[in-house]
Amino acid sequence: MTLALGPSLASMTSPWDLDRDALTDLLSDQPRYRVDQVWKGLYDQGVAPSAISTLPRALRERLATDLTPALDLTTRSISEDELTVKSLWNMSGDAAIETVLMHYPDRSTICVSSQAGCAMACGFCATGQAGYQRNLTVGEILEQVVLARSEALPRRLSNIVFMGMGEPFANYDRVMEAIRRIIADLGIGARKITVSTVGLVPQIRRFANEGLQVGLAVSLHAANNELRTSLVPVNKKHPIEAIVDASRQFRDKTGRRVSFEWAMIDGVNDRTSDAKELAKVAREAAAHVNLIPLNPTPGWPTVGSPASRIRDFANELDSLGVNVTVRRNRGNEIDAACGQLRANQGATPVKLRPKR
Ligand code: SAH
Repeated sequence: MTLALGPSLASMTSPWDLDRDALTDLLSDQPRYRVDQVWKGLYDQGVAPSAISTLPRALRERLATDLTPALDLTTRSISEDELTVKSLWNMSGDAAIETVLMHYPDRSTICVSSQAGCAMACGFCATGQAGYQRNLTVGEILEQVVLARSEALPRRLSNIVFMGMGEPFANYDRVMEAIRRIIADLGIGARKITVSTVGLVPQIRRFANEGLQVGLAVSLHAANNELRTSLVPVNKKHPIEAIVDASRQFRDKTGRRVSFEWAMIDGVNDRTSDAKELAKVAREAAAHVNLIPLNPTPGWPTVGSPASRIRDFANELDSLGVNVTVRRNRGNEIDAACGQLRANQGATPVKLRPKR
């Protein structure tokens, strides 16, 4: 990507919007080593130009005028065990997003947003209930990762999941550019990145042909079209048969299985008959299944399945030859769990750290 730069640089450009070529253009009047210094500041230290101490003050000031960090931290909530951290960020145009950083014994994962809000309107999802604001830019996506990397220290940020606010495949080009930049410029491996989609079939097919080893999750939640359309309205446009076919294509092209996400909803999609239906679809798609207990949200009446039901459901799938895992539930007490992200109206913070 090369941006039109120089004196006409767009006023709200994030420092992380620029790739190396664009930065080189911007610094064309400077000695070449300045590009390295700025690059190291942005990508190794993860700081904005105003804080890059190796630069002369005048250049720092000039860059700070041209390049404005996009994310402004408003609230940070931290779980009691300090292993889950939810951050609420304000952005230009009155938009707001949330990110969730999760520490595990073997890894630290950031759950990033691809849009402010979401237009997919899945009833059980807090983001869907609140509606759509706008697509994020490449810089806004990268900044989430850069800031999480600093927040994670001394732990190493190792994994990225596009499972925050928004539908990544409705912002396809920018998400793809962000992924390429995360791999190339932040050094996080493709296999450590997962994109989760509501099931936009043309984009799943495109994604299969990107030549990347990035993981793909599809939010299935129901294995018959009638139930799925009631839970995930876009199913009307992209029904299960098309998702199965595209998932197979993904597997054939990349050698990687799609992961079907299934939020376990009490009495809705957690019966033995649902498991049988799902097993058939998962086998056809050569998919792995990931069960998520449904998390409570303000605008949805149904509740998550009890733990024993989730276990039985997993066993049923396993006995039918399906590869299945149950996702550990994280962040519920700070409204940071799957489907609970709803910027501005989120949780009461459990514990706050001062703004940095
Ligand atoms: N738009 C993308 C990313 C959404 S969030 C997608 O649809 O995949 C990631 C996952 O959380 C999705 O599988 C989504 O269906 C799920 N989810 C949404 N609301 C949830 C809830 N209340 N409880 C559990 N999972 C939920």
